[in-house]
Amino acid sequence: MSTPCFGALQARILRDGKCLPGGILKVDGFINHQIDPDLLEQMSVEFIRRFASVEFNKILTIEASGIAPAIMLGFLLHLPVVFAKKKKPSTMDNMLTTSVFSFTKNRSYDVCCSKDFLKPSDKVLFIDDFLANGNAAKGIIDLVQQAGAQLAGMGFLIEKSFQHGGDYLREQGIKVESLAVIKSLDNCTIEFA
Ligand code: 5GP
Repeated sequence: MSTPCFGALQARILRDGKCLPGGILKVDGFINHQIDPDLLEQMSVEFIRRFASVEFNKILTIEASGIAPAIMLGFLLHLPVVFAKKKKPSTMDNMLTTSVFSFTKNRSYDVCCSKDFLKPSDKVLFIDDFLANGNAAKGIIDLVQQAGAQLAGMGFLIEKSFQHGGDYLREQGIKVESLAVIKSLDNCTIEFA
């Protein structure tokens, strides 16, 4: 049985979300450009509820759009937040690197994280804004495995289930929680699961 959508986010998507051709949902007015901190807080509280049975000591995300929701969750739980970087800093060695294909940009990019902040003793909860085909999530799984750390779960604000990344992650036995699940954006109509 799937978990129901988080009502406050669902209502906001219906009010302010915009469909773009190619199955893209624009949420620039409250998540991706202008940010609504009150909604972020409510969503983080919902993540805390949904991951209450899971043990983790660190929150991991990918820059840039995952950082705000990850920070809010880390703030509420008093846990450190690490974001995987999309450009390797020249000052950083001791790096873990993986390649991620971006569906919105239609190209691959490298994602990296310092071994100083992702260690074998870490149990990480991954947080991101969108789950689509699951490529960013697969990159994160690779980084976590390279580090010898444990993946405690993956939380997404919005899952587009018609792109099936969530199916793949759940088949791997990963605990995946998405606060709003969209099953179709056909004809620019937002249809929730
Ligand atoms: P995936 O790697 O799961 O295919 O896509 C996830 C990443 O692509 C997210 O981190 C997000 O930044 C971006 N993304 C995928 N679909 C959408 C979308 O419909 N709208 C926006 N704004 N970003 C998306």
